[in-house]
Amino acid sequence: MPSAAPRVSPSAKASAAPAGAKGGASVAQKALQKIGLRRDIDLALHLPLRYEDETRIIPLASARDGQVAQIEATVVASEVQLRPRRQLVVQVEDGSGSCELRFFSFYPSHQKTMAVGARLRIRGEVKGGFWGRQMLHPAFRVAGGELPAALTPVYPTTAGLPQPYLRRAVVSALARVDLSDTLPPGTEPPWARFHGQNGLHRAFSLREALIFLHHPTPDVALSTLEDHSHPAWQRLKAEELLAQQLSQYQSRRERDRLRAPVLHPQPVKGGAWPLHEQLLAVLPFSLTAAQRRVGEEIAADLARQVPMHRLLQGDVGSGKTVVSALAACLAMDAGWQCALMAPTEILAEQHFAKMIGWLEPLLAARGRKVAWLVGGQKKKDRTAMLEMVASGEAALVVGTHAVIQEQVQFKNLALAIIDEQHRFGVAQRLALRQKLAAHGMEPHMLMMSATPIPRTLAMSYYADLDVSVIDELPPGRTPIVTKLIADSRKDEVIERIGAQVEAGRQVYWVCPLIEESEALDLSNATATHADLSEALPGVMVGLLHSRMPTAEKKAVMALFTSGQMGVLVSTTVIEVGVDVPNASLMVIEHAERFGLSQLHQLRGRVGRGAAASACVLLYATNDSGRVGETAKERLRAMAETNDGFEIARRDLEIRGPGEFLGARQSGDALLRFADLATDTHLLEWARELAPQMLDRYPDLAAKHVARWLGGKSDYLKA
Ligand code: ADP
Ligand code: MG
Repeated sequence: MPSAAPRVSPSAKASAAPAGAKGGASVAQKALQKIGLRRDIDLALHLPLRYEDETRIIPLASARDGQVAQIEATVVASEVQLRPRRQLVVQVEDGSGSCELRFFSFYPSHQKTMAVGARLRIRGEVKGGFWGRQMLHPAFRVAGGELPAALTPVYPTTAGLPQPYLRRAVVSALARVDLSDTLPPGTEPPWARFHGQNGLHRAFSLREALIFLHHPTPDVALSTLEDHSHPAWQRLKAEELLAQQLSQYQSRRERDRLRAPVLHPQPVKGGAWPLHEQLLAVLPFSLTAAQRRVGEEIAADLARQVPMHRLLQGDVGSGKTVVSALAACLAMDAGWQCALMAPTEILAEQHFAKMIGWLEPLLAARGRKVAWLVGGQKKKDRTAMLEMVASGEAALVVGTHAVIQEQVQFKNLALAIIDEQHRFGVAQRLALRQKLAAHGMEPHMLMMSATPIPRTLAMSYYADLDVSVIDELPPGRTPIVTKLIADSRKDEVIERIGAQVEAGRQVYWVCPLIEESEALDLSNATATHADLSEALPGVMVGLLHSRMPTAEKKAVMALFTSGQMGVLVSTTVIEVGVDVPNASLMVIEHAERFGLSQLHQLRGRVGRGAAASACVLLYATNDSGRVGETAKERLRAMAETNDGFEIARRDLEIRGPGEFLGARQSGDALLRFADLATDTHLLEWARELAPQMLDRYPDLAAKHVARWLGGKSDYLKA
């Protein structure tokens, strides 16, 4: 038995080779790099998944079935059995009882270690009781030697990186790394305030917290490590949140040093009305108080020389588009250009149609136009549009991602509006900002979202964003009634659709989301389309899915918008932004597969006109009806409230922050320890401390951010 690796587990080949041997070490080194453990601090922050208790030896007789136990026992028999398959069977006794060890893979050296008469320290899961105890592939070594004082960490790892190697790497990193406190002197730790009972109120320093979490004493209540409520965990989570807040405040301060065009509302001169006033005059409605209020907030931002970085939130249907158009007017009136970018072509198209309707005549009188940029555009059209954008003839540019492509050169972009901002990645927002870089200035940014961001998320990921909220729907809307219906009653639902169409209304039918396969999504939608067409003779039933050619999508949308098409079957492409006020019923099939916020978005497509509107959530039932029941429970929130914020809060509890942040900046990458659904008190503490710390202890702040975020802080800036 090599003394460097006293524990031998025959099933783990890697530990059979002496760790530290040349080839092994470089493989492990590479594996460390691969999982991002480059700096000592990365290793120090690589926390165990769980722990093994090797601090005690227990009598075999006291081991329960299923318990992982460490024993010391003597080998009384050892044989290789060939049936039913080749295996080494070793019988051991410790005076209190006996146990059989079984190994399906083993080496001659193992047999030698486990020869009759040998005394072993054995660790494994004990199975069975009355008929004899058994351990399958336990770890074993020669008995004796000191017992460790702390629990043994088990780390998340990867191929080529054995636990013993990783453990040693962590121990030596912990010994080397600078873990000096970066919190300002006298900081009151919130993790102490919230754990007053059981003597747990002692505040851990960072060093103490990390040493404890890697090697906790065996008397710790394991549940407090598992649920991360232990004060050592609290310390780490607070530190992590502080780093995030510092970096957010820092980027806000950096942005505050940048310059953007100053856009004052133009005065009425010589009877010539400013664009902004003209648009208000031609709108077929008057603004709600909330729209006016957020409009003023935006106008105040635009009149400053610091770039605006504002998120306009408002539930679906609250009328964000017109607010953004009014903001665009302020920029265009001062002779600048605006861009309006939407995540899908359908949505961009709707915006374009709306902007044309509202603004084209007004702009024409000024010799300016609205340009249109999307991916699949004809080369000739595209070239013409690009010229309009470059010359400044286009006052407003509406489109999809195509708006930020390299060839697009703005003459003077002053305001970038991003609809459904959570659909865009950081890189895309950065690209938009760069479009004005040529002038040594930044454009103002207005981001819009109908997915209400829960307060804790807004406080953390969007801390460097100003937020305006439209908290009021335009008048005359009747609330949407939401019903949960088992899909076994689909026929009744189809009957109801017939009645709606008869009454001159229109209906959306949203097909289930099939995450694994777009192809399945499609075949499902196609089949539903065929079924509904058959069940509803004389009704025009259309189909819309993401794989359709653009021209076809447009044609379908045009038929639905004009009211000729009674029913629109679609995959989730209609999720965002589509506005057809005459649609009054939405059916969502397999609603249990959607996130609540997503359902809320979808539901917002109806209830846009004066007619009473309904949303039917069909949920799947199996034969026993049981899967159906849990799904129903979760979906009940949808029937209980129309408040997008409440729904978002429940969604955060259920699904975590990824839902709101979009794939590219999803929560896991940025917060490893803290959990926004439960660590609100820590977040509030960090948020309060961060600006003070930047002012009074800039060096500590810089050190803290570098320690925690390393190269990642760029990521947080866009
Ligand atoms: P969203 O905030 O979801 O983007 P939209 O901007 O699409 O909402 O507006 C939804 C509908 O309400 C549109 O048809 C829009 O023209 C209309 N609308 C917006 N503001 C008002 C208002 N103040 N009064 C009446 N209708 C309005
Ligand atoms: Mg919208």
